Amino acid sequence: VKFYTPEGNYDMVGNNTPVFFVRDPMKFQHFIHSQKRRADTGLRCHDMQWDFWTLSPESAHQVTILMSDRGVPRTYRHMNGYTSHTYMWVNARGEKFWVKYHFKTDQGIEFLTDEEADRIAGQDADYHRRDLAEAIKRGEHPSWTLKVQIMPFEDAKTYRFNPFDLTKVWPHSDYPLHEVGRLTLNRNPADFHAEIEQAAFEPNSFVPGIGPSPDRMLQARLFSYADAHRARLGVNYKHIPVNRPKAPVHSYSKGGAMRMENVSDPVYAPNSKGGPRADSQRYPEEAVWEASGEFMRTAYTLRKDDDDFGQPGTLVREVMDEAQRERLVSNVVGHLKKGVSGPVLERALEYWRNIDKDIGERIAKGVKSG
Ligand code: NDP
Repeated sequence: VKFYTPEGNYDMVGNNTPVFFVRDPMKFQHFIHSQKRRADTGLRCHDMQWDFWTLSPESAHQVTILMSDRGVPRTYRHMNGYTSHTYMWVNARGEKFWVKYHFKTDQGIEFLTDEEADRIAGQDADYHRRDLAEAIKRGEHPSWTLKVQIMPFEDAKTYRFNPFDLTKVWPHSDYPLHEVGRLTLNRNPADFHAEIEQAAFEPNSFVPGIGPSPDRMLQARLFSYADAHRARLGVNYKHIPVNRPKAPVHSYSKGGAMRMENVSDPVYAPNSKGGPRADSQRYPEEAVWEASGEFMRTAYTLRKDDDDFGQPGTLVREVMDEAQRERLVSNVVGHLKKGVSGPVLERALEYWRNIDKDIGERIAKGVKSG
């Protein structure tokens, strides 16, 4: 989501699930390679997906969600959105809080069965894009209620698990949702290429009062997204209308291919020629934390409930009903039966037994029966 605020652009770059597969950014590229295509045939490969997942047990929560109903949304309109990462908010009194955003679909959650999804993928590869464009054209503007979980700054030091761990959610019973707004998609783009393909979302675009957390995955995304845009769209991608802030920008940026706006002297700082300066009185650097040894220790030291299987286990046992569990088992069995064997298959069965013993046994039975 790109917010065009009077103080510049603020991008919230999230996902349709509240967690992610890995918590260490060094593993990000390996995760992506394992989910994409093999070197030899150029084909996708379930064996390499499960090989990576089972050797990375922190993936268990996200894999459980992926294999559940939430992994196959009926349409883009029928799924939630999440920041997944924790961010920082600072209020008018200068008090700091940690926050997570939840965009809850007002259309309700709906999903496709595996069979429906397989059929639709063959019949209409543009099914999701078409559904969204047509609904908006009909005047059925989809909306999401924006809610936030708020954690006081000091709580992070002693919470029972690392609150900056991207593979975990904060239970609603500890940090309830507070409604703050609504996101409505009320028009289609006039030019899909200019407004959608060239849109550059980057989690480093903040406005005063909002900042990052010490989540290491977020820290890496803060620079890697902008790098990707420079490679994909060019160094002046922020001049493209969809990316350009509506607020005037005063910087010393100069040169580069496809520059659209003239700069004026002085072109350096500091200068005594009246060039733009940061107004630290109006916008003090508030949404920051000190990367001291003590803070980093509290952010990254292992805690009591930092295990990888607890939260997906809760999801399977306490959130899902029996029909959902049945579909989860069927989705996993179907996936494992397509090209996963030997030690990788054995590890996959062990992985599910670690999430939940009963689900693990049911999956093992399903895989071994025919
Ligand atoms: P709650 O009972 O308060 O919340 C359960 C949440 O699970 C709801 O937000 C619900 O979303 C969501 N949910 C239901 N089915 C699924 C599914 N198949 N896949 C993913 N999410 C689903 O419990 P807790 O907050 O204690 O969390 C328990 C478990 O719920 C967690 O371990 C996590 O797996 C999952 N969850 C928790 C979220 C959180 O922020 N606390 C967010 C999303 C999932 P909805 O209300 O939209 O139906």
